[in-house]
Amino acid sequence: MRKFDLIVIGSGSGLEVSAEASDQGWSVAVVEEGPFGGTCLNRGCIPSKMLIHCADVMQTVQNAAAFGIHATVERVDWPFIVHRAFEEVDADAAMIERGNRQDPNIEVFKTRGRFTGPKTIDVDGEQLTAETILIAAGTRPWVPQIPGLEETPYITSDQALRLPEQPRRLTVVGGGYIAAELAHFFGALGTEVTIIHRRGQMLREEDDDVARRFTEVYQRRFNMVLDAQVTGVSCRNGEITVDVTTTEGSRSVISDTLLMATGRVPNTDILDVAKTGVDIDQRGNVKTDEYLQTNVPGIWALGDIVGRYLLKHSANLEAAYAANNIFNAGQKAAVDYHAMPHAVFASPQVASVGLTQQEAEGRGAAYVAAAYDYSDTAYGSSIEDKDGFVKVLADPESGEILGCHIIGSDAATLIQEAANAMRLRLGVDAITQSIYVHPALPEVVQRAFGQLGL
Ligand SMILES: Cc1cc2nc3c(=O)[nH]c(=O)nc-3n(C[C@H](O)[C@H](O)[C@H](O)COP(=O)(O)OP(=O)(O)OC[C@H]3O[C@@H](n4cnc5c(N)ncnc54)[C@H](O)[C@@H]3O)c2cc1C
Repeated sequence: MRKFDLIVIGSGSGLEVSAEASDQGWSVAVVEEGPFGGTCLNRGCIPSKMLIHCADVMQTVQNAAAFGIHATVERVDWPFIVHRAFEEVDADAAMIERGNRQDPNIEVFKTRGRFTGPKTIDVDGEQLTAETILIAAGTRPWVPQIPGLEETPYITSDQALRLPEQPRRLTVVGGGYIAAELAHFFGALGTEVTIIHRRGQMLREEDDDVARRFTEVYQRRFNMVLDAQVTGVSCRNGEITVDVTTTEGSRSVISDTLLMATGRVPNTDILDVAKTGVDIDQRGNVKTDEYLQTNVPGIWALGDIVGRYLLKHSANLEAAYAANNIFNAGQKAAVDYHAMPHAVFASPQVASVGLTQQEAEGRGAAYVAAAYDYSDTAYGSSIEDKDGFVKVLADPESGEILGCHIIGSDAATLIQEAANAMRLRLGVDAITQSIYVHPALPEVVQRAFGQLGL
């Protein structure tokens, strides 16, 4: 049995805590079965956004005629696009692993870990133990059981970002942000995309007005099969058939590549977290208190495996709290998730912070709401953004910002000012009374808040 002061399972945001432990002189074991840096670096945020930027460049060229610039695309260099993303990602992953291996206080176990008891982990037959253990093992793609799927070649986001060749026709099953982003990536670069989704609208977690507008735009861009139940999948001579039933009857969708973007599942099962006695919820997430401590003293958890927000900046926030709470036990702090923003890097972009209108109604919260179109601002009109709008919600009495929802150009950037004001609990005034650069795009956010009349 090898004994450490701390064992960290997962080299995503968990590494923030192992680095702090090493600085404090603790002996640390880092257990990671994949490339260092976790999902965000290797299979998530970073490569997807590097690839999606290429799709955005393509769209800029395709839409140039609206600005009197007539351009044609000669060629899409697919291998270059994928290589550009992963050259950087793979180098970063190797650098992070090297840094950990060179740290005299850290020992790296590059293999799958599995709990064998409350505080023991098996790594390739070797047993590790520590008084303090951090579970930061993330999630993996989840795929539903569909007749024929096991015999049919399909990909998830893990493979979609590294395809050696561009598919000519792609079927995407799913309607969340990963489905939306990948449909944009492949579709803008010329793949014929069909999206099959079991609901009537994409992005169900967004404000209803935003989800509706997004779905309308996607209906213009792609073949959309909504309110659809996938009843079977098969493959013949390299051609994939997805059978679906919709309110209008049954039909088949044919393509060359099938992408299942149907959700994610926590890695608690493959890690055998149950052996620790740590409580797990119905969805398989590790249960923690507000300090990120599990019910077993000394075992902590953070990030996607806890499942509060499946976002890198949330995992990083939690890592900062976990490090504080583990190393400053006398000054533990509850994680403050207030004003957690997120963005969908599709086209149109979507970004949001706080309550949606349906959530405000569900909670019986007093609110006023207003919206403002990009096209009613100088910059929105100059960039020809006809679909974009900003919708805001605030408390009519106190002026507290309850939510901000943006669909349109640079939404992921524009949301930040609302998120910052909300996080600092500054209220609507912080935005309406600020001086905005004219005629820059953030004016649309200010005007939306101005419409509230508070
Ligand atoms: C396609 C895609 C796009 C995304 N885009 C964004 C985005 O734009 N913005 C954003 O905020 N978030 C995005 N995310 C989500 C983001 O990647 C995650 O929220 C974040 O990576 C979670 O960090 P984590 O440290 O909790 O887990 P992870 O980064 O998943 O790290 C967990 C690590 O544990 C390892 N592991 C698991 N089980 C074991 C085991 N038994 N033994 C050893 N090692 C194990 C895994 O190999 C992994 O490296 C995206 C995700 C995907 C899939």
